[in-house]
Amino acid sequence: MAFQKVKPEKPVKDLTPLDVKCTTTRCRDNFHCFKTSQKMIENYGKTGVCRDCGEDVVDWDRIRKNDVNDHGYMFDVMKLELLRHVCWNMDLQTEITEFAQKRGKRKLRERARKILQQKIGKAINFREGYQTAKTGREIIHYAMHATATCCRPCMEYWHNIPMGTDLTNGQLDYATDLVMLFVEDRIKNLSDEGLQKVAVKKLR
Ligand SMILES: [Zn+2]
Ligand SMILES: [Zn+2]
Repeated sequence: MAFQKVKPEKPVKDLTPLDVKCTTTRCRDNFHCFKTSQKMIENYGKTGVCRDCGEDVVDWDRIRKNDVNDHGYMFDVMKLELLRHVCWNMDLQTEITEFAQKRGKRKLRERARKILQQKIGKAINFREGYQTAKTGREIIHYAMHATATCCRPCMEYWHNIPMGTDLTNGQLDYATDLVMLFVEDRIKNLSDEGLQKVAVKKLR
């Protein structure tokens, strides 16, 4: 067996999004990555399985109905990917929750759709695959990683929306719905209109 240099690994519960690439796996802890690779096809003769261990647990026909009402199942299996698991379970710093609470659900939804349009809306997007931040106070960025709407490669294998096309309004609405499901799951006490009187500093 070839000698492999292994860095001491943090326990999964201590990982932050910055520690994890889209394709990082921790198969022995049941965290995988289902992104299609040539090796996957060579090793397992099919796609949709874990690229590192071949684990075949996702009902892709069910996932690819893109049915927001079935988000319970969709998110359960997405959480089997390490990066998405980390985003669903990370401690949210106060600045993340406060920033969201100040805006409220209505503005967050508008903002989510705008960010999705900017980051993944075009057939060709700036820094494709790396365009969505993994730090900072913007909850929508974590939501995008958590729901596989962070980049077009993830959109393609999770949501069956091919790369190389502009997203339709319907596809953007669908992505926005998923992002808001994450936001409202992670931050429970969001009001519709936010905290109007508190000045919100503009991002960037
Ligand atoms: Zn695996
Ligand atoms: Zn992605």
